[in-house]
Amino acid sequence: MKPNSSILIKLFILQYLSVLCLSQDFDFFYFVLQWPGSYCDTRHSCCYPKTGKPVADFGIHGLWPNYNNGGYPSNCNPDSVFDKSQISDLMSSLQKNWPTLACPSGDGNKFWSHEWEKHGTCSESELDQHDYFEASLKLKEKANLLQVLKNAGIKPDDEFYELDSIEEAIKDAIGYTPGIECNVDGSRNSQLYQIYLCVDTSASEFIECPVLPKGRCASRVQFPKF
Ligand code: 5GP
Ligand code: 5GP
Repeated sequence: MKPNSSILIKLFILQYLSVLCLSQDFDFFYFVLQWPGSYCDTRHSCCYPKTGKPVADFGIHGLWPNYNNGGYPSNCNPDSVFDKSQISDLMSSLQKNWPTLACPSGDGNKFWSHEWEKHGTCSESELDQHDYFEASLKLKEKANLLQVLKNAGIKPDDEFYELDSIEEAIKDAIGYTPGIECNVDGSRNSQLYQIYLCVDTSASEFIECPVLPKGRCASRVQFPKF
């Protein structure tokens, strides 16, 4: 009787420890791109980065570890602070592809630091800081979203487009259905704000989304100029 119960206790402790370790883990990434014209309308104002007005393209918002049940981990390692010296080789590409539009104008470091500390630290088992930012930049290039939409006749010209046709264009090009999030501007127009693509845990391949984010889009959405 006694030896059995001690084995059981050990098993329980082992199970508890493995759950503790796994709780740092995640199932997939959301790779989230934002349309700058809509960010500026959502906030009713925005500030261009110190490096100047970004080009009219989708910008990276973040690469977010997520669980299949829709939940997500955040701020996983307070000891792993953002260190721009680790990504100095990526700086000009980050400024171009991951610009900050929040006010007051910044150089991007605050935005990247927030994204690393909130989200990036939760995928450190897969990607260190340099890999995390490099993988995000590669994913943006691979998705080539603005061109994909333009090829389907969908462009940032203040016109309204069927939500279905936007989804379809992306699905045809990338192979998987994206999540699309909208915002409402001052004139109550539903606008294309963010596009979510799902990515495997190594941050290299697009995958079918295990769960799609809530989109809040009308059936026709505006694609604002920027
Ligand atoms: P919002 O409330 O504006 O949708 O999201 C605020 C922030 O919460 C986002 O910028 C992001 O950091 C985080 N967030 C919102 N939804 C998700 C989600 O579905 N997955 C993950 N990983 N983070 C999210
Ligand atoms: P998340 O929504 O990822 O939790 O947080 C985004 C944070 O980054 C917010 O605190 C927001 O003020 C800041 N931020 C700085 N620049 C940008 C930007 O261009 N877009 C978005 N969505 N947030 C930005």
